[in-house]
Amino acid sequence: MSVFDHPEFAGHEQVGFCHDEKSGLKAVIAVHNTNLGPGLGGCRMFSYANSHEALTDVLRLSKGMTYKAAMAGLPQGGGKAVIIGNPRKDKSEDLMLAMGRFVDSFKGKYITAEDSGIAVSDIHIMGQKTTYVGGTFSKYSFDGSAADGNPAPATAYGVFVGIKAAVKHRFGTDLQGKKIAIKGIGHVGIRLAEHLYRAGAKLYVADIYPEGVNKAVSEFGAVSVDTSEIDALDVDVFAPCALGKSVNLSNINLIKAKVIAGAANNQLENDELDQQLVERGILYAPDYVINAGGVIDIYHQGIDSNATALKAHIEKIGDTLAEIFNIAENENKPTALIANEMAEKRFLKK
Ligand code: NAD
Repeated sequence: MSVFDHPEFAGHEQVGFCHDEKSGLKAVIAVHNTNLGPGLGGCRMFSYANSHEALTDVLRLSKGMTYKAAMAGLPQGGGKAVIIGNPRKDKSEDLMLAMGRFVDSFKGKYITAEDSGIAVSDIHIMGQKTTYVGGTFSKYSFDGSAADGNPAPATAYGVFVGIKAAVKHRFGTDLQGKKIAIKGIGHVGIRLAEHLYRAGAKLYVADIYPEGVNKAVSEFGAVSVDTSEIDALDVDVFAPCALGKSVNLSNINLIKAKVIAGAANNQLENDELDQQLVERGILYAPDYVINAGGVIDIYHQGIDSNATALKAHIEKIGDTLAEIFNIAENENKPTALIANEMAEKRFLKK
């Protein structure tokens, strides 16, 4: 199948493939839309089963970045990169340098940053070959803590703000005593757990690796749950913070939470699930709206801004979600559909 015929192609402006023989790099960069500015989006490293799976992922993620930037009110477009490989086994300096050269070949139309499997240190190495990197330094953190350029703290705070807005809308309460299941305790998940714990929520956590789960259990009183059980747990909020397709054809009828709100990109396996969530009385916080804290952070680090302005911008995620929830309820439409319509009004050329 050609890229143009791919079901996720969605009018992408540019898609590039790279194979670097010396380092073994196999990567894809997709730039969806640059009407509002250059395509900014993280680089993901993952053990994709094949290149088709990697292409599908990068196209979906890149499109999501266009919608995310538009809804976050940023002068940026959408792009994304994926590296095919296991981040725990296949990383090398040569691989990251080759990725930096690949990013540079887009001449600024694509700006890269961290995503799942890629750390700040990896972006620093890419930055030896290209200036088109973000998330490598921070002058300040949104909360005054030490900042290292990693956007995950800002993302986690945005998701926390978004969960508060969703719980307020669905239950009319704050987070005190709310049961929240977090699937994926990585860079974002562990920081989200801390915010939720401090707000009085009861946490249930699952991950395929033990480190994050152990920390959440010992520091935030979380209950460790098997990854096979976390989706269907009897909780108030399900917060997907692992990878995509957290809501899928296999689990949609098992989910008991009345709110789905988390950091993962592309949470719905397909667009129709959106309507099914409405029918099941589940409030869904559109992924690219709730997880925009990281791109907002990267944007503020690159302009003459400050921590107060950054924090205020991240907190707008709550207002945007509240607006989406209200419109969706009044029009009896799915929240993701409303978010898409709002974003398209902003980025599509008349
Ligand atoms: P991460 O790789 O640090 O964490 C993901 C965690 O999910 C890992 O601990 C991994 O072991 C776990 N995981 C993978 N598959 C799982 C499964 N089947 N069940 C349970 N756990 C599983 O990534 P991150 O930076 O924390 O990002 C998490 C999600 O949020 C990703 O989808 C990412 O695209 C999205 N996101 C991240 C940022 C950011 O700033 N880091 C910004 C926006 C969106």
